[in-house]
Amino acid sequence: MPNLVLEKCKELSEQIIQWRRNIHSNPELGFQETETANLIVSVLTQLGLEVQTKIGRTGVTATFGNGKPCIALRADMDALPLVDGKKVSYASQNPGISHACGHDAHVAMLLGTATILKGFDKYFKTGTVKYIFQPFEEGQDDDGVGGADAMMKDGVLEGVDAIISQHVHSELKAGTFQIKPGYFSAAVDTFYAKIYGKGAHGAYPHNSVDPTFITAQVINTIQGIISRRIDPLEPAVISIGEISGGTAPNIIPEVIALSGTIRSLSSKVRKQLHEDLESAFQISQAFKGNYELKIIQGYPSINNDLDLVKLLQEVAKNIFPPEDILLGGLGMGAEDFAVYSESIPGAMFYLGTALTPPRVHHSPNFDIDDSVLYLGTAIMAETVLRYLNIQI
Ligand SMILES: [Zn+2]
Ligand SMILES: [Zn+2]
Repeated sequence: MPNLVLEKCKELSEQIIQWRRNIHSNPELGFQETETANLIVSVLTQLGLEVQTKIGRTGVTATFGNGKPCIALRADMDALPLVDGKKVSYASQNPGISHACGHDAHVAMLLGTATILKGFDKYFKTGTVKYIFQPFEEGQDDDGVGGADAMMKDGVLEGVDAIISQHVHSELKAGTFQIKPGYFSAAVDTFYAKIYGKGAHGAYPHNSVDPTFITAQVINTIQGIISRRIDPLEPAVISIGEISGGTAPNIIPEVIALSGTIRSLSSKVRKQLHEDLESAFQISQAFKGNYELKIIQGYPSINNDLDLVKLLQEVAKNIFPPEDILLGGLGMGAEDFAVYSESIPGAMFYLGTALTPPRVHHSPNFDIDDSVLYLGTAIMAETVLRYLNIQI
């Protein structure tokens, strides 16, 4: 049976590509996405939707339909502080900023979905779709507030029953769909620590409490947390990304500073990692030193809702050939979609958009095959219709 939604999305493909390239050439950093928001507002207003702006600072929302149930579709809008190294007509015109994660594509696909669903206007009886265009997914401001946090603070999920989002994946074959039930991204916390000792001349170590030596013991102990303390069947990562200390080869310093990232899936392991990290730093006291440890809570893990995953997989069968429907996608990266899916049922999936050769996310030559974006639009639109029980 021909899929009417898919056909309509295919017809809209050129427009989706144009939106994506337009946004790609004018990338904006987190909480500064004003031009992007203006474009979104103008498209949604032309569709006759009621639009709310400045939600979560620079975010935009709009609803379509009325009554229950309500399903939300979320796209992020922000770009990265990275030089665009590509030589293409749609390369970034804003020096030092580029859409190197594909959020431009997310916006374009969701504008496509809003357009397609508007076309099925007359079939909407009861039920609402809410479009969420979110700022700043890639980081947090100085107060630790990211885009999803800011939108939640403004009540973006009030009255919403479920939420769906997608991410383009530049290393997955173009035109593939990937999802799995349960965990889909990691919880990510950051730690900052200092190890204090007592400085001395490098020739007389017995007069010191050497913080470099103590740091070495602490690092070994941290590695032992993952290998000896955490259940081997539970994914967990602690990586130390920065170490600094000392001023000269022959001076034992007073203090060593280090920082790192802590990643886990379950809240139980997350808590254990924090406690065991504290214990690892306590080793410094056994060597007559001392320490300070600060752990900053980041995003939780995405835990894809089982029923929503089932629905998305059913929808995918109507859009993708069986060999292009993949099970998986879990990585130890973070996504602030988790902030929403922690409070209501949510699911995220990947749309494969690889070029040959693939261009990795967050790199200066990042790019995607945007000829398949209409598929992402289709899966979002079809999922809304099925969730709201709308027959077309
Ligand atoms: Zn990213
Ligand atoms: Zn991203």
